[in-house]
Amino acid sequence: MKNFNVPVIYRSPLITAIKNRRKLDDKLKKDYTPSLLDFGEVQIFLARHFGFCYGVENAIEISFRTIEENPGKKIYLLSEMIHNPQVNMDLKSRGVEFLMDTKGATIIPFEKLKAGDIVIVPAFGTTLQIEQKLLAAGVEIEQYNTTCPFVEKVWNRAKAIAEKDYTVIVHGKPQHEETRATFSHSSVHSPTVVVKDMEEAIHLASYILNKRDPESFYSEFAGQYSEGFKIEKHLERIGVVNQTTMLASDTQAIADYLKGVMIEKYQLSESQTTDRFADTRDTLCYATNDNQGAVYALIDTPADLAIVLGGYNSSNTSHLVELCEVKLPTYFISSQDKIISSKEISHCKIHRKEEVTTLSYLPERKPVKILITSGASCPDSLVEGVIRKITGFFNCKKTVEDVIKEFEDATIVNQAIFQH
Ligand code: SF4
Repeated sequence: MKNFNVPVIYRSPLITAIKNRRKLDDKLKKDYTPSLLDFGEVQIFLARHFGFCYGVENAIEISFRTIEENPGKKIYLLSEMIHNPQVNMDLKSRGVEFLMDTKGATIIPFEKLKAGDIVIVPAFGTTLQIEQKLLAAGVEIEQYNTTCPFVEKVWNRAKAIAEKDYTVIVHGKPQHEETRATFSHSSVHSPTVVVKDMEEAIHLASYILNKRDPESFYSEFAGQYSEGFKIEKHLERIGVVNQTTMLASDTQAIADYLKGVMIEKYQLSESQTTDRFADTRDTLCYATNDNQGAVYALIDTPADLAIVLGGYNSSNTSHLVELCEVKLPTYFISSQDKIISSKEISHCKIHRKEEVTTLSYLPERKPVKILITSGASCPDSLVEGVIRKITGFFNCKKTVEDVIKEFEDATIVNQAIFQH
């Protein structure tokens, strides 16, 4: 994969040393065993894959370069570039202004844009309607477009399904920027409906199976179906694409379920299935797959607690939290500052969507074993910050610098062996 020029403030000597070593040992990324950082009284198990993905690094590189190359110019971001508060704050502190919030509500009216202003399109991509508004304002939309190629891949998949005359079902969070963008791009080619979860997929199925009054579809799925959608006609042939950051098992379950519904309704044999249900794989991105796969391996490790780092509105991070919390106490934090002391931590409860404080989150028994991972929009420097803060509470047999050296030395030895 391409190496991006990401500001050094987001890098971490510790995590870089660990990732370099793991990359060298496991070039094909097959080994999901966590990395053990053994400090004696506390043992940290780091997921094999976590942190900035391709799309996020690409967006960060373009955004910071744009700021550097355009002093004195008005630079806007359509909305949060990625779902990480520190990165967004850093951009704001360099003069970048946000046109919309994450739900698409206006912060600065588009009417204020002038020809020649720069508007950076975030990694999630944007809707065709917003692209039109930018063009109408005389804003160039190609040069500063950071839409992730893995998101564009979903749009292409939706188009391919549409060309075969299937209606596109998007499994995604209806309010999420990426899903709004995918919905917009897909709707041009085909009738499109967004389902948020299995519950909504089951509701949609009840219309397919004629178990509900078709008219109630329009209120139940208000805002989630494309213009001109005809419930009696547009659910006869369907295909599923998904937001790139959904939980892999949820997406698979929804696709399997809807396929089963079509088989039941039309009494299809195996070979006839594609008459009604598009035969495609999920459109999760590589980072979602890697990070979720690494968390499954991580939670196999006996431990006292897990810490997941990321923005509280980050979809991919919240799925990592969901996976961890079924296995052990899990604390979802946005930075090391949320670790108040060895006795107190502030963290986000994803299901209640609120930050709470928990006392005595570290057990008395030693060694304390902690699993750590982070989302695709979380800088590695924050992960290192958490490790430094936690180890500061213990009588450690070695320092973070010792661990960096161990991993760097091992990398050098391995490189020497490979070159020999
Ligand atoms: S999570 Fe995946 S789709 Fe989203 S920006 Fe990263 S690589 Fe792209």
